[in-house]
Amino acid sequence: MKLHEYQAKNILKKFNIPVPNGVTAETPEEAKIAASDLGQTVVVKAQVHAGGRGKGGGVKVVHNPEEAQEAAKTILGSNLVTFQTGPEGVPVQKVLIEQGIDIQKELYLGMVIDGATKGIVIIASEAGGVNIEEIAENSPEKILTIPIDPVLGFQPFQGREIAYGLGMEQNQIRPATNLIQNLYNVFVNTDASLIEINPLVITSNGEIIAADAKLNIDDDAVFRHKDIQEMSDPSQEDPGEVEARENDINYVKLDGNIGCIVNGAGLAMATMDVASASGASPANFLDIGGGADEEKVSKALKLVLSDQSVDLVLVNLFGGILRCDIAARGFILASQEVPEKMKPMIVRMLGTNADEGREILSNSDIDITLVNTLDEAATAINKIK
Ligand code: GDP
Ligand code: MN
Repeated sequence: MKLHEYQAKNILKKFNIPVPNGVTAETPEEAKIAASDLGQTVVVKAQVHAGGRGKGGGVKVVHNPEEAQEAAKTILGSNLVTFQTGPEGVPVQKVLIEQGIDIQKELYLGMVIDGATKGIVIIASEAGGVNIEEIAENSPEKILTIPIDPVLGFQPFQGREIAYGLGMEQNQIRPATNLIQNLYNVFVNTDASLIEINPLVITSNGEIIAADAKLNIDDDAVFRHKDIQEMSDPSQEDPGEVEARENDINYVKLDGNIGCIVNGAGLAMATMDVASASGASPANFLDIGGGADEEKVSKALKLVLSDQSVDLVLVNLFGGILRCDIAARGFILASQEVPEKMKPMIVRMLGTNADEGREILSNSDIDITLVNTLDEAATAINKIK
């Protein structure tokens, strides 16, 4: 689960991490009032679940309340497009108005769960600011990576190693180490999956401040944090993904045009590979899950069909707890509810009641190609697409 910058900063503050003074505003008038309360230079920042706002016009430094109002007027209500969003952008409903800080240096500090070391790894770089991906690509030697032992936890010597590695001055080593320790505490206490402070700013009077904050919480642990759960903002998410979650369907939208419906995550990935190998690209990952009924299968198909870019639906089911005849009836149910949205389907069904399922489908009005193997599925995709 993703949080907005202002929400993440409120959490950081509770853990004694310095962040700029700021307030959120939902109208240009509120922005003006906030700016006059905060003083001269303020920064108006679009609150969206995407980075790259600076380059996309979502972060504006202004010098008086009227300018803040103007900036808020252009940003609020717009759809902000950044390199991390699709071309349609994400809606901006709030801006964060922050006291401007006098930036001397922009650093990068991040923490993430690392599959290789099976624990948290701290990532830091002297080359902070807007594009860490570029630094990682072009000058990887500028990036420090410190794995943290999950049993021992973060150790002060690791903080010093990072602080020195970031080129900090002697009197900044202790505050920096404390800040990293506090950030590690945030990570562990909120069950985070990722934290990014980019930039971590050194001001002209030597203070260290988190000028930006990205905090993602592990979806499987968020139920342990009711207060964080309440911070969710579905307006920032793909509507299909929100609907899928409400129906307990695992769905991730992708860029391609072949809709995939599968039961089982491993099978879903294999199926997407088949689609890719035949030169097509999957429009989604979808795992219906085990105990689906007709209604849920129909929901899954309707969900896939609601994606405008889907031209063809590839179904790969291994009937077990979910019987193939039930799945077939679910597809028919969907075709009756949204006949105008139906697309050709390639269906592979094996396992419990597969014959019955295939029978039901071949007697239906749906444009269906029944296949027995993934090879045949690939051939069928090529014929249709
Ligand atoms: P992002 O582009 O979505 O990551 O948004 P950031 O919050 O990181 O802002 C982008 C850039 O705006 C930063 O790298 C800074 O250079 C600049 N910026 C952000 N806050 C301030 C501020 O308080 N004062 C000044 N002068 N620049 C800021
Ligand atoms: Mn940033």
